[in-house]
Amino acid sequence: MFDRTFLRSRVARRIFGLFLVSAFVPVLVLALLAWHQVQQTNETHARQHLQARAGAYARALHERLLNAGLALRALAESPLDLATVLQGGGLHEEVVFRRVIRVAPPRGGDVGPAATADWMPAAPSDHEWLHLAGGRAVLRAPTTRNGAPWLGVALDPSDPARGLLWAELGLAFLWETDEALGSDVEVCVAQAAQVLHCSDPAHAHVALALDGTADGAPALVDGMDVVARSVPLKAAFDAPPWRVVFMHPRAGVGAATLADAWRLGAMGLFTLLLVAWLSVLQIRRTLVPIDRLIEGARRFAKQRFDEPVAIDDERDEFGQLARALNGMARQLGTRIEAMRVLADIDRELLAGLDLDRVRERVARRIEKLLPGTQVRVLATRDDERRAGGGTWIGAAPDGDAVAAPPRALIATLTRRAALWLRRDDGTAADEPWAPASAWSDALLAQLGLERGLVLPALWRDRVCALVAVAGVEPAQVGDSVLRQLRELTDRVAVAFAARARERMLEHQASHDLLTGLPNRMLLKDRVERDIAAARRNQHHVALLFVDLDRFKQVNDTLGHGVGDALLTQAVQRLRACVRDSDTIGRLGGDEFAIALPGLRMPHDAARVADQVVATLSAPFRVGHQECFIGASVGVAMYPDDGKGFDELLAHADIAMYRAKGAGRGCVVFFEAEMKAHERDRRQLAHDLRRAIERRELEVHFQPRVDAASGRVVSAEALVRWTHPQLGAVPPARFVPIAEEVGLIDALGEHVLAQACQRVAAWRRAGCRVDRVSVNVSARQLRGGQLLHAVRRELRAAALPPDTLELEVTEGTIVDASAAVTDLLHTLRADGVRIALDDFGTGYSSMSYLRRLPTDVLKVDRSFVAEMADDPRALSIVGAIVAMAQALGMSVTAEGVETQAQAELLVGLGVDELQGYLYGRPMPAGDFAARLERVSAETRSRCRPETASRRDGACGGAG
Ligand code: C2E
Ligand code: CA
Ligand code: CA
Repeated sequence: MFDRTFLRSRVARRIFGLFLVSAFVPVLVLALLAWHQVQQTNETHARQHLQARAGAYARALHERLLNAGLALRALAESPLDLATVLQGGGLHEEVVFRRVIRVAPPRGGDVGPAATADWMPAAPSDHEWLHLAGGRAVLRAPTTRNGAPWLGVALDPSDPARGLLWAELGLAFLWETDEALGSDVEVCVAQAAQVLHCSDPAHAHVALALDGTADGAPALVDGMDVVARSVPLKAAFDAPPWRVVFMHPRAGVGAATLADAWRLGAMGLFTLLLVAWLSVLQIRRTLVPIDRLIEGARRFAKQRFDEPVAIDDERDEFGQLARALNGMARQLGTRIEAMRVLADIDRELLAGLDLDRVRERVARRIEKLLPGTQVRVLATRDDERRAGGGTWIGAAPDGDAVAAPPRALIATLTRRAALWLRRDDGTAADEPWAPASAWSDALLAQLGLERGLVLPALWRDRVCALVAVAGVEPAQVGDSVLRQLRELTDRVAVAFAARARERMLEHQASHDLLTGLPNRMLLKDRVERDIAAARRNQHHVALLFVDLDRFKQVNDTLGHGVGDALLTQAVQRLRACVRDSDTIGRLGGDEFAIALPGLRMPHDAARVADQVVATLSAPFRVGHQECFIGASVGVAMYPDDGKGFDELLAHADIAMYRAKGAGRGCVVFFEAEMKAHERDRRQLAHDLRRAIERRELEVHFQPRVDAASGRVVSAEALVRWTHPQLGAVPPARFVPIAEEVGLIDALGEHVLAQACQRVAAWRRAGCRVDRVSVNVSARQLRGGQLLHAVRRELRAAALPPDTLELEVTEGTIVDASAAVTDLLHTLRADGVRIALDDFGTGYSSMSYLRRLPTDVLKVDRSFVAEMADDPRALSIVGAIVAMAQALGMSVTAEGVETQAQAELLVGLGVDELQGYLYGRPMPAGDFAARLERVSAETRSRCRPETASRRDGACGGAG
């Protein structure tokens, strides 16, 4: 731990360095000061020592000289001893004196060596004589190089002339202290400029250099501490003073100081080590908790909250910080755990929406939050919505739904709150227990509980689920737990709402929105299931294609609101016709399909189909409106008419189409030949489209003659198509196809353009033609392009609008919507004439005639044909003529083939006649020949060269 943290931590290094520096600098300064001080002291001490020793030496030397003087005196006064000494033996004082000589007085002596050798001291001076006479000794410097000083006394002080005794002092005696000096101290003795003795002759110059220095004062010479002491010899020996010089090399003092310095250094080092050790100890005490905190924070950052920061001392700041961090981590841990669970649930919601898994997860999570509890997530039943007829899709599929809490109870809850429920035991409910109610009693009974916590999962103010927690007391649920419970409950709400939405979408995807019936997709599913079952059971499945006959007209005239209501009613009637096992589907608009599975005999289907037609033929009542719709039904049977749904439906469709063609309100069973027919029809539609694109359609003209004058006054334009393989195809065959496949506008515009251009050309050629009639289909009237086309073609041909007559069939008018009526009024206001074609075959009532802008009634061919044989047909035509005259309309009779018919019609007062009697529809060129010329000049131009015999020339008909 120490190494890791200590070496790695920058803080540790910094503090450690700081500690060391702060200890090292004072220690160093202190050491320097101390060293200096020690040095000074050592020096002073050495000097004092030197002084003391020099003094002692000087005194001892003085003493020895005095003693030697006394000894010599004594020798002089003892003639016996002296004689022995002088004869060279028995000189027991030889330690004191090296040799002793007697010097005869100037008058000449008789003993001892010659008194005048050069090594002998010189004769005393006068002054010395006086001194000797006083019985005192004289001191002389050495006479030889390695000699010693001499002492001299008078043999007889009262008569110095008797002779002198000289003694050379013993070197060892005189300088005796040499050995006791010690190695580092040297001593020299000098007299004036002569060095008498030096313990180390090498230092003699030092003794001389000191000449003149104050007595006892220390000096520094040549790196040596030097102390000089003078030995006064005047009084005792009548000699100049000696100087004792003690010296001591400085290096010796330094060495002593160095030893002290070592001690100091060791102490400093010890101090530093102590400081380092203590600082490391303190740093450790600081850094280890910091390190743990850092480690802990890193762990928490990695979301490992299970391992808290270890705490050594709860009381210090680190302990407090660690405790705070641990607390934070705990909270964060639970929070993150909660978020993780929520995120998991969210993922679940987004991924597959497995409602049961979400319920399971929420329950387990709450059980972990509140240990010891049992949790159930319950779907609720919404009785209100069920009663409304819709499917409440919040309910669980397993059916263990419970009743939703009453709305009043929910209203008392804030969005975050929970319900504490308790069975009614007669006592008043106090906070936080909710007041007892029948609902809570029932719920608790259903769950087998006495008390519990219930959280409603709200979605758009509806309770879609309940989270029930058993085995929990209010005290256990703090704010934070309650918040988590709410979050989890909200997820439940989302899950249930998502499931509801999913089901709604599923339902919408497979059902019709208005009627709630299965759509084509679902129908196909069911029919195919039915077919599979029928295959196993050898049964039949009938598929009924039901098309409402006049629904479009009702929708157009009375509006979509009425149309929707009508469809809903129609569906209700259809439901009444079928069994539960049957499926009704809406294919779109007013088309329905009914699957009747499990039929033993095909004719069972006929009964249902008839019933469908019958029930839809009964009048519908929407508001104040009464409508007649009716239906056409086509039936296809499995297995005879198809093996799969698509085939069956296509065949039922063909059959239904037949039913429509056969007059509405019929049931037609599919037959194989219908299919071939249908195929032909498709081929024809295809060919027709090409023919229109290539402008291969021709327009023929049939003359209409004035009943009174017999003149050709008008032409009906009739479209003609010569098919490359089939030859001439009658318009009655291909016009309905053109209507159906959306080619009618192109076809109609082509005919309109041809008609207008032809009439304009005839007029320019001087032929007299009042009008041209163009047939307009119902689909064109509804299409919205007709008005524009009419105006354009009239303008292009520069024709006045009243030249053009539009023939609309009576059926079209009967079903006319407001838009169609408006269009007809606009056209009429433009000046275009409107004729009611095939009049008498449709269902027009007098009110239609009054309401619609009509100029001409074209009596249908069937009346004309039957007129001769059937008196009732004759009277109908008569009535039509009378009515037309009363309404200010003119009457044209169609299909006049015989003269007799013509005469009858003229007799009835018909205005114009049209029919084979006056000419079949013919190409434009032929028709022009039938026209009367306006003037003589243009006559020739109107007569075509190839005019037929019958058609003669213009006006030939008259
Ligand atoms: P429609 O408007 O009633 O036309 C008259 C039909 O009666 C024509 O048949 C004509 O040839 C036929 N016809 C005329 N006189 C006699 C006669 O004396 N005896 C008999 N038996 N028939 C006679 P077509 O040309 O075959 O047309 C049939 C229907 O096709 C037309 O009935 C009309 O509804 C429709 N049609 C023809 N051309 C067009 C057109 O350009 N546009 C539209 N929308 N429909 C057209
Ligand atoms: Ca016509
Ligand atoms: Ca007609």
